[in-house]
Amino acid sequence: MKTPITVAYGDGIGPEIMKATLSVLDAAGANLQYDTIKIGKEVYLQGNQTGIAPESWATLQKNKIFLKAPITTPQGGGYKSLNVTIRKTLGLYANVRPSRAYTPFVPSNFPSMDLVIVRENEEDLYAGIEHQQTAEVVQCLKWISRPGSEKIVRYAFEYARAHNREKVTCMTKDNIMKHTDGLFHKIFDEVAKEYPDIESEHYIIDIGSAMLAAAPERFDVVVTLNLYGDIISDITAQVAGSVGLGGSSNVGDNFAMFEAIHGSAPDIAGKGIANPSGLINGACLMLVQLGKAEVAEKIQNALLRTLEDGIHTGDIFHTNKSTKLANTQEFTEALIARLGKKPKKILPVTLNKDSKPIEVKIAPYKPVKKEMVGVDVFIDWAEGERDPNVLGDQLKELAGDLMQLKIITNRGVRVYPNGMPSTFCSDYWLCRFVSKDSVIDKGGTMGLKVVKTIKNQDVIDLLQRITDSRFNFVKLEQLFYMDGERAYSLGQGE
Ligand code: NAD
Repeated sequence: MKTPITVAYGDGIGPEIMKATLSVLDAAGANLQYDTIKIGKEVYLQGNQTGIAPESWATLQKNKIFLKAPITTPQGGGYKSLNVTIRKTLGLYANVRPSRAYTPFVPSNFPSMDLVIVRENEEDLYAGIEHQQTAEVVQCLKWISRPGSEKIVRYAFEYARAHNREKVTCMTKDNIMKHTDGLFHKIFDEVAKEYPDIESEHYIIDIGSAMLAAAPERFDVVVTLNLYGDIISDITAQVAGSVGLGGSSNVGDNFAMFEAIHGSAPDIAGKGIANPSGLINGACLMLVQLGKAEVAEKIQNALLRTLEDGIHTGDIFHTNKSTKLANTQEFTEALIARLGKKPKKILPVTLNKDSKPIEVKIAPYKPVKKEMVGVDVFIDWAEGERDPNVLGDQLKELAGDLMQLKIITNRGVRVYPNGMPSTFCSDYWLCRFVSKDSVIDKGGTMGLKVVKTIKNQDVIDLLQRITDSRFNFVKLEQLFYMDGERAYSLGQGE
C-alpha cells in the first residue's frame, strides 16, 4: 500500500525541484502516492487572496502530510501569506529547521556545526494583528499563550530525546518583555526540570544570535519564539553555507508540511539549473515523520556522497572543489545513482529508525484569580504644543470617585506628572487610571494588598466622562492582578 501525501509544485523553480525530489523519493523506495494541489501565484491572481483554492483543503485534510515547493507571493496589498494561512489552519505549531555544515564541499567557517532551530509557529508578532491607532502611531500585537509556549518547549525537548541531541537552548528577550517573553522563559524553566537527561540553558536573543553567528558549534537544539526563530534560522542556514540546501518541517498534532527553506528563485526559474537539495532534505524530514527513517537516511547519504564527489549545481559550484557543473536533472540522476552509498569524508547521516512522530501533552486549563485594579486608556491627542501637563490636568478631573489618574506615558516613558520637557511626545498617550483604594505596584507581592477592585461598569463610566469631555480614546487595556501578582508592565519612571 502506497502512503498518500499531498504535493504542490509551486512557482518559479518549484516545479523543477519538485519533479527532481519525487523522482528521488520513488527511486529510493519511499512508496508514496502523490495527490497534487495548485497553490501560489496562479491561484492568487485568480482572485483567491490566500493562494490556495477552497477545494484543496479537503485533499490536505485527507492526506495530513503535505510536501510543498516554494511559491511566489505577488507584490502589493491584499495577498495573505499562504504559509501563515496553512500553518494556522492546520495547527502546525512547530517549525523545525536543521542547519548543518557540508564542508569542505560547501564552504562554511564552522565545519562541525549541526544544530536544529525549533521555532514557535503560530503566535507572537506573527499573529498579524496590527492597527493604526492615530495619525502617527501603528501597533502590532505580540500574542503569547501558555499552551502555545508549553507545546513548543515540550516539542523541543521531545525532539532532542528522539534525535539523540544533548542540549536545548531557549532564546528570549525577557529582560525587556517581562510578561510575554517572560512567560515563554518561565515555561521553559518549568519543562526543562522534567528532562534531567537533557542539558538546558537560556540566552537573551541578541547575544544568543551573535553567538549563533560566531560559534554555532556550541548549540544543539534551540527553541524560541516565532519572530526570533524566523531570523535566527536564516542566520544559521547562512553560516552553515547551506541556504539552498536546507529543508524545514511545520508540524502539528494531526498535520505536517515539509518544504525547502529557500524561495521560488524567479531569477533562475525555467532554466533547469536549480539545486533540488533543499526540497529533498525537506522530503527526508517528511519520511522520518512517516516512519520511513531508513529511506530518509539512504537519500541523505546519497546526497552527501553526490556533494562529496564534487557534482554541484551552479549555486554551490567552485572551480577548485567541484568536479562537474550539474544542472537539476544531472544532479538528480547522480544522486539516484548513489542511493545505497555513503559519504567517505563527511560524517554519514544516522537516523533513529525507531523514532515515532512527536506527541506533546500540555497541562490542562488552570483558571486564575483576576482582580482589575485599573485601566489604561489610550488617547489620540495632538493639540497645541502637546504639553502633557495640559492633557494630564484635564484628565485628572475625569477620574471620578473610584479612580485616580496615576501616570501618563508616551512611547513607554512617563510624561505626567513630572515629565521631562526633552521627551518627545507622539499623538498617542497611555493614560493610566487606577483604583483609589488599591495599594499596588510595591514590587511584586511584597506589601501588596489590593483592597478594592474596579468593575467593567466603572470603566465604562470613565470612558463616558472622557468622551463627554471631547477626548478621543482609541484603545483600552484593563490592568489585572492575577493570583495576586501584577500582570501588566510599569511605565518607565512609574
Ligand atoms: P529566494 O530564496 O527565492 O532566492 C534568493 C537567491 O537564492 C536567488 O538568487 C536565487 O536564485 C537563489 N536560490 C534560491 N534557491 C535556490 C536553489 N534551490 N538553487 C539555486 N539557487 C537558488 O528568495 P527571494 O528572491 O527573496 O524570493 C523569491 C520569491 O520566493 C518571493 O516571491 C518570496 O515571497 C518567495 N518565497 C517563498 C518561500 C516559500 O514558499 N516557502 C520562502 C521564501 C521566499
